[in-house]
Amino acid sequence: MFEIVRQVLPDGGQHKGTSSCQAEKCKRATREGKPFCSGHIEQASYVASILDILEKRGVEEAILESGKGKVSGDGFFYKETLLLLRTKDFTAKALSRRLDISHKAADRLIRLLVADKLAVATATQRGDLILGGVGPQDLALDKD
Ligand SMILES: [Zn+2]
Repeated sequence: MFEIVRQVLPDGGQHKGTSSCQAEKCKRATREGKPFCSGHIEQASYVASILDILEKRGVEEAILESGKGKVSGDGFFYKETLLLLRTKDFTAKALSRRLDISHKAADRLIRLLVADKLAVATATQRGDLILGGVGPQDLALDKD
């Protein structure tokens, strides 16, 4: 078994599966030399950073849903939306699906971006908002 691990891993078996969890009062063995067992995986730095991002995203989503307050200019939704706008324009509906937020929250996000002059919005004949990036572009519209 150990020989197989040595052959598979390029570092010659540094990850021997003999580490124990670094969480306080936990002595469980970890798999493949990882610093934490599956019960304490949230203490690993990369998992903690993902959880942190998700928490901030949740706070911003609540702000957009309530319509009270303003999301941060360097927060999740501004960054994500401006990134999306580099490839195509979006209807509010498509944006809400893409960002997994309500139509109302997407609408609010669009208005904030437009107010900050980071994007432009036009309306279809039916009154749906279409969000586009600012600057020279000739992009396809995602009305999905
Ligand atoms: Zn543990």
